[in-house]
Amino acid sequence: MKPLIIIGAGLAGYTLAREFRKLDKITPLIVVTADDGGFYSKPMLSNAFAQNKLAAQLVTQTAVQMAEQLDAQVITGTRVNGIDSRKKIIDTEAGEFGYEKLVIAVGAQPIRLAIDGDAAGEVLSVNHVADYAAFRSRIATAGTTARVAILGAGLIGCEFADDLAGAGHAVTLIDPNPLPLAALAAPALSQGLQAALQARGIALRLGTTAIRIDRIGNGLQVTLADGAAIETDIVLSAVGLRPDLRLAQAAQLATARGILVDATGETSAADVHALGDCAEYTLGANDTRILPYIAPLMTAARAIARTLTGQTTSIDLKPAPVIVKTPCYPLALVPPPLHVLNTGRWHSETENDRTICRFYDDQNVLAGFGVAPQEAGVRQKLLAALGTSAAAVNSATKAA
Ligand SMILES: Cc1cc2nc3c(=O)[nH]c(=O)nc-3n(C[C@H](O)[C@H](O)[C@H](O)COP(=O)(O)OP(=O)(O)OC[C@H]3O[C@@H](n4cnc5c(N)ncnc54)[C@H](O)[C@@H]3O)c2cc1C
Repeated sequence: MKPLIIIGAGLAGYTLAREFRKLDKITPLIVVTADDGGFYSKPMLSNAFAQNKLAAQLVTQTAVQMAEQLDAQVITGTRVNGIDSRKKIIDTEAGEFGYEKLVIAVGAQPIRLAIDGDAAGEVLSVNHVADYAAFRSRIATAGTTARVAILGAGLIGCEFADDLAGAGHAVTLIDPNPLPLAALAAPALSQGLQAALQARGIALRLGTTAIRIDRIGNGLQVTLADGAAIETDIVLSAVGLRPDLRLAQAAQLATARGILVDATGETSAADVHALGDCAEYTLGANDTRILPYIAPLMTAARAIARTLTGQTTSIDLKPAPVIVKTPCYPLALVPPPLHVLNTGRWHSETENDRTICRFYDDQNVLAGFGVAPQEAGVRQKLLAALGTSAAAVNSATKAA
């Protein structure tokens, strides 16, 4: 019997493997991964400093333990270089493997800004537990109060800023937008977060961007577009991730911003599925989205596992809040979809010292929200309202 092969041992690959094994205990299962195959929860990477966690403490299971738990072969340190979806073969650094069904879960790659200067190559990014280990070791070399300049005040940049400040480091957060979290949150919440980060001692350099990074003495100097210069020990880039399309494009699978999958998670090639940060999900006609968060990959994993075991199942991607792990100003967000962002509007109000922002599209339908300080009860209420309005839109669309 030919195996199910999963490429990638991140949360997407391993969650799919677990869901598959719940339904099928017989079909051979192979996970091929370029990394060491250790299981860890990636969201912990941006709130581990304040808890003084070492990288090794974040890995809860080794590849050997995962292989045992999943009754699978986990092939580590092995890059997949090609997919022949007609012959159903993958080409890897360890040779060729035939498959019955294939799942691509190769994640995303950090976006690299074009920056000048003799230390531009020193910029770090953290998208894997191994990156976190390297980052920690650079911080340790810099001392107990390391100076860290973070490029990007989005979700990950703000989380790292708060976490590093909580661990006693001197943080500067740099972003071209006028407010932190500008792409995801309502201005009222971004302002609240800005005030909280400043109160935490974080320096915000907003409305500008880094154009060069040079060595200066034992440290680095970041030159900003507005002419200012910042001395720092470490530069961390958190400007975003881009789905890794290299394998999919080489195999001539359909791609847009991510690997395009249909409602069941299947790519343009038969018996090849994709999920996680590399995928672009289909939510409806003309509505495909990259959803680089945990909740969607879990929903996708459950549905794809059922489809792979013979019960064709659509991925039911309901809105799920993103919890922003900034203890100085805890937020929950369901960002409005991109296609309504420019035509809708935010409505903000304060209830019992809580800022609640609702986004209405041009039909006055609730399409997203944000709340701070976030709390499960309020979050659930807002989510229920969003669910009702989404259902209303769906049925209206079906009726039309
Ligand atoms: C710092 C940080 C904090 C986050 N916090 C949150 C949060 O609070 N809440 C939330 O919902 N989301 C959060 N996210 C996003 C979430 O963690 C990701 O959406 C999720 O972990 C992506 O998992 P993945 O398996 O798709 O990708 P990855 O974890 O990137 O896994 C990709 C896997 O593919 C392997 N691979 C890649 N190419 C090849 C190849 N050619 N051959 C073989 N193997 C290959 C890699 O080695 C790796 O094992 C955070 C992300 C980051 C970076």
